[in-house]
Amino acid sequence: MSQDYIWPVTRYSLEDYYEEVWTHCVKCKYCQHVYLPDTVDHRFHYQCPSGEVFKFEAYYASGRNELIRALLEGEVKWSDRVRHIIYTCTICGACEAWCMFSGRGYPLKAIEKLREYAVEVGQGPLPAHKKFAESVQVNHNPYGEPHQNRFAWLPSGFAPRDVSLIESGVVYFVGCTTSYRRMEIAQATVKVLEHLEIPFTVMDGEEWCCGSPLFRTGQVKGGVETLAHNIEVLRKMKAKKLIVSCAGCYKTFREAPRYGLKLPLEVIHVTQLLAPLIKELAGKGKIKLKRPIEKSTYHDPCHLRLFRMFEPPREILRAIGIDLAEMPRNRLNSFCCGYGGGVRAEFKDYALQVASMRLEEAKSTGANVIASICPFCKHNFLETAGVLGLNMKTYDVMELLAKALGL
Ligand code: SF4
Ligand code: SF4
Repeated sequence: MSQDYIWPVTRYSLEDYYEEVWTHCVKCKYCQHVYLPDTVDHRFHYQCPSGEVFKFEAYYASGRNELIRALLEGEVKWSDRVRHIIYTCTICGACEAWCMFSGRGYPLKAIEKLREYAVEVGQGPLPAHKKFAESVQVNHNPYGEPHQNRFAWLPSGFAPRDVSLIESGVVYFVGCTTSYRRMEIAQATVKVLEHLEIPFTVMDGEEWCCGSPLFRTGQVKGGVETLAHNIEVLRKMKAKKLIVSCAGCYKTFREAPRYGLKLPLEVIHVTQLLAPLIKELAGKGKIKLKRPIEKSTYHDPCHLRLFRMFEPPREILRAIGIDLAEMPRNRLNSFCCGYGGGVRAEFKDYALQVASMRLEEAKSTGANVIASICPFCKHNFLETAGVLGLNMKTYDVMELLAKALGL
């Protein structure tokens, strides 16, 4: 999907989107709701979190298109309201998936370019996003955590400098949120890879933030710097395959060419690597899988939406015998968890509100477990379920797979 989707992203300035936002956006509103024939439950018809929460045209992609035109024409002046409109988009990509008229996939990229423009003209990012950038400079992560603690979760017996592991050419890129906030995902991933005897290494002290929080908030220069560092280290390691367990890292590495960076290796989500292998090994009786829970629903992370990366995690859940109950909005129609695009850092109540909307949909399936493959989604769902006192457990698919393997 990558090349078809990524073309033609090489728009150099906000002005390059003028024609799209002015003449191609016909205000049809397909970007606001689930495509009608795909609506299976009228309660869950909406697609754009910011439009649904703030209930005003400006908060949908169609309105943000109009804002771009108006800013370029000088019709609208910068204000706190304008910045609020720009930075409450969760960058979920639902609008881009369903925009029927551009035919080129632009609404999300236009919004991302609008944020870049806001930064260029000194009107963005917002205070919490500036802190990300400062921390990435100093600590190589956006959370203000010491860099030396990045791999504190690594099992003591694992030796990333082992020559045979480096020669495998397979590198697990862990990412900041998994390393510092949801270490259980990293631990489960390492346990499963080791159990299945898949040789791999990690970048150890050389892994820096992939750049996702900076790219998503318009701070592209800083994003390129930290991503370029990682790519250069991987090139020196002669890595051929990069495994990620974070949807944000996946999008960022896959989109490196968009920012002029050559990617000298394949990037895959760990579930893409494992789904066919698990089925094969289980089919041959080489591994035993014990169903860890009865039933679960599955949440598609937004950062995987436009890459159409939907099936591998579902295949793993089914292979381990879990009854998979789909939410009304799934795959291309998935609804955001509320974390993304720098929203949670700056507008936490809104982020939790969006997560609660998604958890309500998860509840409607009759499941009390929501599985996903992104540490951001897990983090936001966990906190929201706790705040609301909901009986809804949240697991990463890798945790469920580790349990199924008895690890
Ligand atoms: S779907 Fe596309 S063309 Fe239609 S209103 Fe939304 S952005 Fe405009
Ligand atoms: S990316 Fe998501 S939140 Fe932003 S305008 Fe599009 S649908 Fe709405």
